[in-house]
Amino acid sequence: MKFAQISRTLIPAQLCRVLLLLCAFATGLMPGLVHAETGAAAPALLVQDLTRVKLTPYLELLEDPGGTLSFEDIRGPDNAQRFESLGQQSPNFGFTDSAWWVRLRLDNPGDKAVSTIIRQDYPLIDRLDFWSTDAEGRWQQVATGDRLPFDTRPINNRAFLFPVEVPPLGESTYYLRFETQGAMNIGLFAHGSNDLVDLISTEYLALGVYYGGFIVLLIYNLIMFVTVRERAFAHYLLYVLSYGLYMSVHNGLSFQYLWPGNTWLANQSLLLLLALSLLGCIRFTRTILSSASLAPTSDRIAALMELCMVAAFLVTPFLSYRSLIVPMSVATAVICLHMLLMGSITLWRGSRPARYYMVAFTALLGGVLAYMLKTFGLLPHNDITQNAFQIGSLLEMVLLSLAVGSRINELRQRGYIDALTQLHNRRYFNDQVASEFYRARRRKLPLSLVVLDIDNFKTFNDRYGHAQGDLALKAVARTLATSLRKPNCPCRYGGEEFVVILPNTTEAQVAVLAERIRREIEQSTAASFKLTVSVGHATLDDSNFGNPLDLFVAADFALYAAKEGGRNRVVDYRSCESKRKEDGPGPSQDAQSPLDRPALERQPR
Ligand code: GH3
Ligand code: MG
Ligand code: MG
Repeated sequence: MKFAQISRTLIPAQLCRVLLLLCAFATGLMPGLVHAETGAAAPALLVQDLTRVKLTPYLELLEDPGGTLSFEDIRGPDNAQRFESLGQQSPNFGFTDSAWWVRLRLDNPGDKAVSTIIRQDYPLIDRLDFWSTDAEGRWQQVATGDRLPFDTRPINNRAFLFPVEVPPLGESTYYLRFETQGAMNIGLFAHGSNDLVDLISTEYLALGVYYGGFIVLLIYNLIMFVTVRERAFAHYLLYVLSYGLYMSVHNGLSFQYLWPGNTWLANQSLLLLLALSLLGCIRFTRTILSSASLAPTSDRIAALMELCMVAAFLVTPFLSYRSLIVPMSVATAVICLHMLLMGSITLWRGSRPARYYMVAFTALLGGVLAYMLKTFGLLPHNDITQNAFQIGSLLEMVLLSLAVGSRINELRQRGYIDALTQLHNRRYFNDQVASEFYRARRRKLPLSLVVLDIDNFKTFNDRYGHAQGDLALKAVARTLATSLRKPNCPCRYGGEEFVVILPNTTEAQVAVLAERIRREIEQSTAASFKLTVSVGHATLDDSNFGNPLDLFVAADFALYAAKEGGRNRVVDYRSCESKRKEDGPGPSQDAQSPLDRPALERQPR
């Protein structure tokens, strides 16, 4: 029954839902397996000096098909004989219509009463009843479970805790009755009180870290969505929020803290959130992987799956948990496999976000694998392997958040690249020159701009045609790209005009560099297009310019002077400064100016 045991803790992960499905078949649909080796009465548990004991070997169980037996019935002579021990087998019965009765004997040979707490660790049990005897030997019942308000629990905790006092010199018997529409997982432990305090504080600390991580991701991505307005963030938010809530329903936290009085939500929310998180997962996957263009067929299938999840979400309030859980498990398995397929296809077709996406999935799988290896005894049992699955899912969410970042980058890059020359475009230049300008001023470093324009290009076009003109533009761009190194950044400003941003470059250095560029373009096209360029440059040095626009206009004016001076030459802004003052504003400041003034005049943030 190891599969069922694994399923109990792994269920929340999408991929584990695949396992859940298998478990459902392995346990729920084949309950006979569980009964194979039942038999001899279980020994009583000695409670003196107790720290923590897994109770499975001490339990005796009785199946009550249809759940019709009463507490009196099961203590009657017929039924009392029918209780059987499971030995070391795990009492996980998958989906079952039966109620299960549990009998437990605790032995206290000492002469003082011993306080012990019995804990049922799987919190999603619909009805859980607990019977113990009081000092006068009368049976006392505690009726709880997640179909009853949270305050029916004797102790305020996400799991079920039943404190008992075992009287001295003798054996006490306790009964529990389990009934649930979901997976029947009986996971009982006995704790000394110190041990329980230890366990709970570590457990809640770990859960705090886990949900803290989720909340940080939520806030970060919410801020990103508000500022960037990119859909991927919204879809990510839907996914993380519903997934995080789904997990919290699963481990009982949401019932404890979010809706302790709402038993309908305590049960149905699991399915509502499962549908919602699958919907979020598909939406997010489609956006982030650009599957509509990269994998259109898979994308259409995913769209269909989305519709199914919307439908599932809408019908969930009207159908029973039992009738939905199996189809939803199947849907989960199919959707997960399809998402993996889409990730692989888009990765194959070169999507960058798909890399993060697939790494995220791998992290989750790694967590699942580590947990399974631990369960099978192949990895040591420690805090990391015990929580490997949670760690994996948190890592998954962080990596998916990076995938969103990578997509934003991709979109931005696309908008920043000139289609013909593959250089950065004017929009990029405007953004970049402003930030470089203010950075240089802050750090008191020089910043140079080179503006260059192909000579008589109109004539070239007229003579050789536009197609040849395009090739010539590409050739010039290639020369610029190969002769300049980062952080020097050549951009196509528009038409046959280029501009280069040169951070930390002095006037003397840029003069040499500009001349080199002019010569290289002349030489590289000498055999083919025979092009020359005119070049102007200007340098920000010691606050001689008030804003990036002024710097650009100065370099542009120098270019204008180079054209006037006969073309195919380099002119420094300083050499024509006096002339510019005489002439008034340069050519770029008139109404037809190619400048995007608002962007360039933007003040530093
Ligand atoms: P000058 O030396 O004074 O710069 O003369 P010019 O002919 O180069 O300048 P002008 O501004 O008169 O003409 C620029 C020409 O560049 C006009 C246009 O046909 C050409 N051009 C602009 N963009 C493209 C392009 O993308 N492809 C091609 N083939 N030609 C372009
Ligand atoms: Mg020109
Ligand atoms: Mg021009």
